[in-house]
Order: sequence, then structure tokens, then C-alpha cells
Amino acid sequence: MAVPKRKLSKARRDKRRSNVWKLTLPGFSKCTQCGELKLSHRVCPSCGYYKGKEIIKKEA
Ligand SMILES: [Zn+2]
Repeated sequence: MAVPKRKLSKARRDKRRSNVWKLTLPGFSKCTQCGELKLSHRVCPSCGYYKGKEIIKKEA
């Protein structure tokens, strides 16, 4: 059986268990147009942009 060579420090162990490295849900990213959180590979629901082009026209 494989055994860990070194004891993981409390800091490293706790950092892994902490939530800091998974701030956003998988499949989510910030919109490049408005900075809003959006689903990746989807048109942004708040500004209607996808890949730098306006897909859905939003009235102001
Ligand atoms: Zn947007």
C-alpha cells in the first residue's frame, strides 16, 4: 500500500479543505463584457453578449 512520505502540515491540509480555491461553481465564469457571473459557453444573461458579440439585444 502506498503511504504518504511526509506529514501534511495543518496549513496545507486546511487550505485544501477550505473553500478559497473553489470560489465559483464549476461551469461558471465571469462575463468578459459586464463582469457578471455567467455559465461558460452560454450567452450572458445580463448583457446578452457571447464571444464579444451582442447575441441578444437588451433594451436599456
Ligand atoms: Zn455580460
